Amino acid sequence: MITTTKKSVWDMAQDRLDNVMDILDLTPGLKKYLKEPRKVVEVAVTVKMDSGDIDIFKGYRIQHSTNRGPAKGGIRYHPQVSIDEIKALALLMTLKCAIVGTPFGGAKGGVSVDPAMLSLRELENLTRRFTFEIINIIGPEKDIPAPDVGTNSQVMAWIMDTYSIDKGYAVPGVVTGKPIALGGSQGREEATGRGVVYSILSALKVHGIDSTDLDVAIQGFGNVGSNAAKILYDLGLRIVAVSDAGGAIYNLKGIDPYKAQNHVLKTGTVSGYKESETLGRDEIFTLPCDIFIPAALGNQVKASNADSIKARFIAEGANAPITPQADKILLDKGTFIIPDILCNAGGVTVSYFEWIQGNDAYFWSKRKVNLSLRDIMEKAFYEVYRTSLDRKIDMRTAASVLAVDRLAEAVRLRGIYP
Ligand code: NAD
Repeated sequence: MITTTKKSVWDMAQDRLDNVMDILDLTPGLKKYLKEPRKVVEVAVTVKMDSGDIDIFKGYRIQHSTNRGPAKGGIRYHPQVSIDEIKALALLMTLKCAIVGTPFGGAKGGVSVDPAMLSLRELENLTRRFTFEIINIIGPEKDIPAPDVGTNSQVMAWIMDTYSIDKGYAVPGVVTGKPIALGGSQGREEATGRGVVYSILSALKVHGIDSTDLDVAIQGFGNVGSNAAKILYDLGLRIVAVSDAGGAIYNLKGIDPYKAQNHVLKTGTVSGYKESETLGRDEIFTLPCDIFIPAALGNQVKASNADSIKARFIAEGANAPITPQADKILLDKGTFIIPDILCNAGGVTVSYFEWIQGNDAYFWSKRKVNLSLRDIMEKAFYEVYRTSLDRKIDMRTAASVLAVDRLAEAVRLRGIYP
């Protein structure tokens, strides 16, 4: 009988880190240090429900690194949130911040809850109670949360308010991804999608490909997927398919993502959008396209569906959307993968701008935000691409090599206390 042990996302992230640390020939002690998150906090989030009863949800905040600056990373509300997933995502944040050169470490948080099942009042109660439970470990100089799957600028506003009430004065710098009225940055809402687009344009450029006649398929039509779709559409690329939790839509002649989004606002899903054919959710993996953007959740592209993906380019909008086995299948086929820690770093980059603007109490125009984002994303892409060519390694390994090298240098320079 063949037995297969299923690896957790944290095991997979550690395997990848091991491989990179071997390439960099780090000492055994440093390897141990970089693998271990600095702080792991698990809390029971007690929420007063509309029914009058209480309910309890598991919440986590994990700081993987604070070596290069305060920990930084999103907060996710999703039923599948687990401690392993949050640990892996915190590690990815550390690497992401190092790649784009923001002066941050990495963290991630989450609550195991389906936010769609809560009323607005329950969502606010949950957010405020979760903030209270982790209040001693977050702060503008310690650890700065941001939105992720299932959270948005309103959730950030509640976190900021709860933290500020505890301190006795307004502390906008405790979170990024805030509403503009509370010190949020222009362009933050679409920054991750825009960063994905800049990465795609750089990839096309180094391959000498004209971007005007290309077909794009996108898995996930939330913040990242829909914004990437709209920016690519405005640039003249054809969005032939998009999917979300409710299904997939396909039109060989192209889908107008603005109209598709209006349909989502009315019905809650892309499914049934009339200027397209509605397909099963996972058929998105099989459709002909030049560029595929996974922008939903982790581990979506697996050994079982990797071979059906026809795109020459994959731009990872989501975090860890491709399993290591699928990665190998795709690389063997010659697919050019722009890895998550590079491709979706636009969000944390504009969060960094938000942090700078808050510290200076001086706010930038959208044009300045977008141009600065483009500069950073292009620089990061070319540094990773150059590393991949010089070391003859794939883009994912190159991105991690660059990031871990920067992180290891910071650890060595600061030294170990005492
Ligand atoms: P979101 O909640 O706004 O959107 C998620 C989308 O994925 C929704 O359209 C949902 O219906 C869809 N989805 C869920 N399960 C699906 C499935 N099985 N098949 C197809 N679609 C499915 O989340 P988001 O903020 O857009 O984040 C998406 C991904 O990008 C996550 O992995 C997140 O960690 C990553 N990310 C987000 C940001 C950011 O700034 N929002 C930054 C970096 C990385």
